[in-house]
Amino acid sequence: MAMRNNVTNVFVDLIMTEEGFDVTVVGSCMTDLVSQAPRLPKAGETIHGHKFFTGFGGKGANQCIQAAKLGAKTAMVAKVGKDFFGDSYIQNFKDNGVHTECVFQASDAATGAASIIVNDAGENAIVIVAGANMLLGTAELKVALPALRRTEVLLCQLEISPECTLQALRMARQHHVKTIFNPAPAVPDLDPDFYTLSDVFCCNESEAELLTGSPVATVEDAHRSSQELLRRGCGTVILTMGARGCVVLQAQGAALCHVQAPAVKAVDTTGAGDSFIGALAFYMAHHPALPLEEMARRANHVAAVSVQAVGAQASYPSRTDLPAELF
Ligand code: ATP
Repeated sequence: MAMRNNVTNVFVDLIMTEEGFDVTVVGSCMTDLVSQAPRLPKAGETIHGHKFFTGFGGKGANQCIQAAKLGAKTAMVAKVGKDFFGDSYIQNFKDNGVHTECVFQASDAATGAASIIVNDAGENAIVIVAGANMLLGTAELKVALPALRRTEVLLCQLEISPECTLQALRMARQHHVKTIFNPAPAVPDLDPDFYTLSDVFCCNESEAELLTGSPVATVEDAHRSSQELLRRGCGTVILTMGARGCVVLQAQGAALCHVQAPAVKAVDTTGAGDSFIGALAFYMAHHPALPLEEMARRANHVAAVSVQAVGAQASYPSRTDLPAELF
């Protein structure tokens, strides 16, 4: 059997693949290491917690898994460590039907990890170590090119190096692949090329605030921020607003559209934004003729289901959990 991630073999495997992908994600994988304790420890202190669990996270992987759960043929382009967490992550992708030929394993860095402590009041302290995520670069994108150029939609975020993300978006543009860019976690001075390379620029309220410098508290604020982001060169802005759903503003369209989310009882909104974006990518790939507002309405529905269960990927609905009218 060919050795995993031998660059030449991967390249040949991909060339041999006749069909393309619906959604390809170039992004992050993180293992969440969660400890629940009565309180957060002080510096130098050791305390006993009540519960420990691990979870699969990282914005890139979350979005990819949501798209796959809805039925998209997905490929993940990412880097994990050659360690236990990296092996488990690759298995998690496989279990969810995600193609992993381009999930590379670094021997010189650990799989990205988020060490999270949650106290009884629900407050948390988090340390994120991006690790192998930051080693994804030009060499890996070159190997992934056969997948990248034969995908309907490319999805990128900011949890890997910005240079790598920009390069992936440029490759997509060159091959006429639709792009969704999620500027998360947000940085104040985003390279202007991120805007012009985004067919859909999808952010939440706090990201929009950081990028535009204006608060986003109301739908009117969201409209103003979306106009400003659109002026910077993206094709469409979708600004998600939690329980209020999202607003959609298209460069080619006319008015702002506020798409309401279904009213639900939220128990945990972790990863709701990633659920929304993964679903949006699915609809852009599978139902490209739908108006973007309708795709956003359906993505709201998917994400609203995710907030009714605990966790990120664990809370994401599959096709069979959703009404047929969404497909
Ligand atoms: P997170 O950081 O928690 O992953 P986010 O801040 O990036 O999320 P939000 O704008 O909070 O993203 O939520 C994304 C989408 O999830 C919303 O547009 C909506 O469709 C859905 N959603 C979030 N919270 C709720 C809620 N309380 N009720 C219904 N839908 C919700």
